[in-house]
Amino acid sequence: MNALGERIAALIAAQGPISIAEFMTIALHDPQAGYYATRDPLGASGDFITAPEISQMFGEFLGLWCVQVWHDQGKPAHKRLVELGPGRGTLMADALRAARVAPEFLDGLEIVLVEASPTLRAIQRENLKIWGDKIRWTAQFDDSLGDRPLYLLANEFFDALPIRQYVKGARGWCERMVAVDANGALDFALSPMPALDVTIPPDRAFAPDGGVYEVSPASLALVDEIARIVAHQSGGALIVDYGYDKPGFGETLQAVAEHEFAEVLADLGEGDLSAHVDFPSLAAHARAAGAEAYGPIGQGDFLEDLGLVHRAEHLRTKNPQVADEIWKAVTRLVAPEEMGTLFKALAIVPKNAPKPPGF
Ligand code: SAH
Repeated sequence: MNALGERIAALIAAQGPISIAEFMTIALHDPQAGYYATRDPLGASGDFITAPEISQMFGEFLGLWCVQVWHDQGKPAHKRLVELGPGRGTLMADALRAARVAPEFLDGLEIVLVEASPTLRAIQRENLKIWGDKIRWTAQFDDSLGDRPLYLLANEFFDALPIRQYVKGARGWCERMVAVDANGALDFALSPMPALDVTIPPDRAFAPDGGVYEVSPASLALVDEIARIVAHQSGGALIVDYGYDKPGFGETLQAVAEHEFAEVLADLGEGDLSAHVDFPSLAAHARAAGAEAYGPIGQGDFLEDLGLVHRAEHLRTKNPQVADEIWKAVTRLVAPEEMGTLFKALAIVPKNAPKPPGF
């Protein structure tokens, strides 16, 4: 067990088993040894690669999506562009470059990057330095983001938010916790008593024995807040991530290191922990908060509808020396056996606003 594992085991020995949500929070964000707190996880030399790192077209289209939604809603003058979990800042750099086609959008725009990791924040600052003091950073989505129209982008952010898991047994739904076994090693264990603080949504009533109900309270609370702002101030939010489009009872917590699946409870802080995003619940929460939700639809359909293939052809003609690479990137983003269907897009806009592009 590494030092972070030992610290978690000591915590559990002192206060009892912890929820998977608490475990994920420590493993990802512990200031000394947490995964995101201490490294740049992205790219070929990192642990995983994301859509904006595959092609500049991804960020460009997301930037143009915001411009179009802003345009469709009457071009409000004061506005804010927010990105959740901006990674290396690549998506935002591409989005802002593309948004230059609409100088009025950039005029009077405040840009806010919501980033917990000081390491990634430093990389973002460097990659976005041409935008100077138009950009500010915050560690979490807070009250300062609710006072004007909001255009929000989140790619592979919600999958990193902590989840809780409940397992159906003869006695009801018991929470799956992280405990220590007889040898002092970290292990999963079910709470001895059924959980009293969990309500299984009605669309999940028929769980098989052993079925796992996963819920991310942090994700639902965040979507509530975003949807309320979009409903009251106008704007639009676009959430892209890997996840499911029908409620299920599968277990999806996973660890990834150096582009391979890894053990969730081993080498803590050295692998990324994430879970499939529950898009139906995010959409239901957005609607309950007074906004309209579109999707989820597959990333492939979404990007093709926005004109990805057309844009790729244009880039290939202008850059024949990298024509193959451009085509490979398109395939990676849209092919069903690659990211095209596992990854999905969900949009949140005000009720009665025009349908957002791509949906
Ligand atoms: N959007 C980027 C990076 C995805 S990785 C891309 O597509 O390439 C997840 C990002 O979310 C990282 O920047 C990570 O530091 C950040 N993050 C994860 N959990 C967070 C939290 N609870 N609060 C703020 N940022 C978080």
